[in-house]
Amino acid sequence: MPAGHGRALHLAAGRTVRLVNTHGTQVVDCWAWNAADLAEHMSMEASRVWTQRLNPLVGDSFVTTRRRPILTVVEDTSPGVHDTFMAACDCHRYRVLGVEGYHRNCLDNMYEGLAELGLEPPVPILASFNVFMNIAVQPDGRTLLTGPTPCRPGDSISLRAEMDCVVAFSACPQDIVPIQGGAANTPRDAHFEVIDADFSSVPAFPAWVPARR
Ligand SMILES: [Zn+2]
Repeated sequence: MPAGHGRALHLAAGRTVRLVNTHGTQVVDCWAWNAADLAEHMSMEASRVWTQRLNPLVGDSFVTTRRRPILTVVEDTSPGVHDTFMAACDCHRYRVLGVEGYHRNCLDNMYEGLAELGLEPPVPILASFNVFMNIAVQPDGRTLLTGPTPCRPGDSISLRAEMDCVVAFSACPQDIVPIQGGAANTPRDAHFEVIDADFSSVPAFPAWVPARR
């Protein structure tokens, strides 16, 4: 996945995609849709209700707008710092940041990635899963601090499909707000691969049913 660009893939139920922070400095936005009905998509809002967490751990599933599990975190070799709060960057974000003319952005990357598969999502989704993004809740419990990712080269997260789905990634082009690691805040390449590892030790929904979700 070239720096500042997006890609998408079909992921059959039970298959796992591993997203690699190749250079250790890159934030990657992630979306997922039910392959049979793109009107149903991964929801950060509903997933926080389900997991009761700000930031997923291994074993946590993301759920859709219809409250059905779609992706489960089955492995995470990174420091585990991710974000489910912040809107994906879009053209409007860069205009607000003072950019004149077009700036590549995650929302357009999402559309480009799906277009390469011949797909078009019915609605824009600003609420992406921002993998490797460092948004720290401050001790007052309400203030957020945006920082550079603390990842290391080769850190990865692996996501198992709980339904046949389409997954999109965007190697975030953000080069103004310092979210990418390293002194230069430079967007870099990232990689993903569908893997055949056995993650059966991480239960799939509904084996793990938390109370009062
Ligand atoms: Zn972005």
